Amino acid sequence: MTGFLTLLARNRLALAGGIVLLLVGLLALVTPLLPLADPDVTNTSNRFRPIFSPDALLGTDHLGRDLLSRLMWGTRLSLAVGFAAAIVAATLGAAIGIIAGYYGGRTDNVIMRGVDMLMAFPYILLALAIVAALGPGLLNALIAVAAVNVPFFARNIRGITVGIAHKEFVDAARLAGLSNTRIILSEILPNVVPVIVIAMSTTIGWMILETAGLSFLGLGSQPPQADLGSMLGEARSALITNPHTSIVPGMMILIIVMAINLLGDGVRDALDPRLKSGALSRPMAATRVDRKAPVPAPTGAGLLDVQSLETQFHVKDRVYRAVGGVDLHVEKGECLGIIGESGSGKSVTALSVMGLVASPPGVVTGGAVYYDGEDLIGAPYRRLREMRGRNVAYIFQDPLATLHPLYRVGDQLIEAIRAHRPIGKAEGRAKAVDLLRAVRIPNAETRISDYPHEMSGGMRQRVGIAMALANDPDIIIADEPTTALDVTVQAQVLTILDDLRRSRGLAIVFITHDFGVVAQLCDRVAVMYAGRIVEEGRTAEILDAPRHPYTARLMACVPELGGGKRRLEAIAGLPPAVNKLPPGCAFAERCTRVQEDCRQGHIPLARAGGHGVRCLHPIDDSREAAQ
Ligand code: ADP
Ligand code: MG
Repeated sequence: MTGFLTLLARNRLALAGGIVLLLVGLLALVTPLLPLADPDVTNTSNRFRPIFSPDALLGTDHLGRDLLSRLMWGTRLSLAVGFAAAIVAATLGAAIGIIAGYYGGRTDNVIMRGVDMLMAFPYILLALAIVAALGPGLLNALIAVAAVNVPFFARNIRGITVGIAHKEFVDAARLAGLSNTRIILSEILPNVVPVIVIAMSTTIGWMILETAGLSFLGLGSQPPQADLGSMLGEARSALITNPHTSIVPGMMILIIVMAINLLGDGVRDALDPRLKSGALSRPMAATRVDRKAPVPAPTGAGLLDVQSLETQFHVKDRVYRAVGGVDLHVEKGECLGIIGESGSGKSVTALSVMGLVASPPGVVTGGAVYYDGEDLIGAPYRRLREMRGRNVAYIFQDPLATLHPLYRVGDQLIEAIRAHRPIGKAEGRAKAVDLLRAVRIPNAETRISDYPHEMSGGMRQRVGIAMALANDPDIIIADEPTTALDVTVQAQVLTILDDLRRSRGLAIVFITHDFGVVAQLCDRVAVMYAGRIVEEGRTAEILDAPRHPYTARLMACVPELGGGKRRLEAIAGLPPAVNKLPPGCAFAERCTRVQEDCRQGHIPLARAGGHGVRCLHPIDDSREAAQ
């Protein structure tokens, strides 16, 4: 709640609106206590006195009534009616919406068709018809305004409720044996209240206007009782000769409605969690680049050559060094593994290559990524788009999240192919079937018209691979593509990737946290920890004799089939937070071999042959590593 208020207060306009509204509301509340003239006493000899007359501060109207007093009483009435109408409409509408959305089926159909019928009338006509049927009067105007706004709330809330009613936590409540009423009150209602408040805060102003409109037409408050609408209506005939009689109530309506709308927008922004960090902006199409240090020159090593890449997240005044100077290279047709615990910066490294890190908050602050000699960091968006998918393609962990749920997988494949090549639909389809065959999906011709939800997880990941292959890329970056799959399916997917690599000369950057997978697939492996590469070399060599204590500990976490009884060692402690990296070795806190000098200064990646290790006291003996 305090969070909500501080967010609201940070929005200057909303704050201003809130203060104005509070003042107007307070004045309306204390009106009966103020020494005001009687608003309804006429004195025709005193009519049309101008503003700032000695006995009438805002002048008098066509019957000589004190305008200030009428304004205050009228505001009081208009606010009361507007708020009452909003509360009635919101309560009724929300109740209808929740019931329709929660019960669904026939209940939903019957209720919503009724709501649709109400919505089919222009609402002003409907309000007029209701007042005409009930007879003029303020209470009837309130009923009419509330009634025409009920459908708006009902529709809104029903939509939200339908979404919530099928969520797992509602199913869980049902399984726990709660009654429907309890579920609605304890599970559904708390989730829709913010939406109700938002809808209300943005419509109250509108309802005050509608009530004023009905009063203006003489259908709302009846003389001599004043509300803002009827004051305007009565002043209409003197609009030219004595404009102040119109301006006074008109200004008040303007002020109230403006204040409510500004506050309402602020409430909406503060309540919507997606807007909470103030990030109304969308991520840019390519990661922001802000390189201070000189850009390293290409070494010519490999097809993809990443040099001292640094990617950070700037959130308010905090800086997260997710990737802190990573050097990598991948040859044509080679498979490079990147391994490390969750949070070590593997995904951010991979996404930085093609400028796919969301900015804000992501920023590439240093280094270069050379693809065939061309620096991709800071390349124009057009160029990146040309290369995404065609030169470097990605496979992500969760294929259900990357496939569009409403399109058939074939159509999505064809779209991916046609994004880079101007070919016809039929040709695209033939190619899509070929791709599905290449990733060994049985009955590719029929499977092509499946929706993603009709496939199993392994099948979907194969579609993900097919999609990455769609434009014959040279490099595929696979970010934990098998983590969500079970072991047998994982083995199949790995075999497919390995075959494709050999048959098509693909280079693969394979990101994982599982040494078993690396052993099976990768030629070389880079071990990441806290945004840095701590060890790098040929897979066989590292598996044989890991030199960095972290690598050794990671390998000790892998169970071996038929390896007999052995303690599986979890690594004690947690990786450091990347916004508070310690000086020296980031692994020092958890390392058993730590010494004084480990905690001081930068530790470089020392290379010997093809094997690099970032450690001052590396393991020398392979027997020691196995302990
Ligand atoms: P992983 O190795 O598991 O793929 P990531 O590359 O996803 O790890 O994340 C690396 C680090 O960057 C983590 O510490 C994570 O907290 C941080 N990070 C990732 N995305 C953001 C973000 N949008 N804002 C702040 N920090 C982030
Ligand atoms: Mg990741």
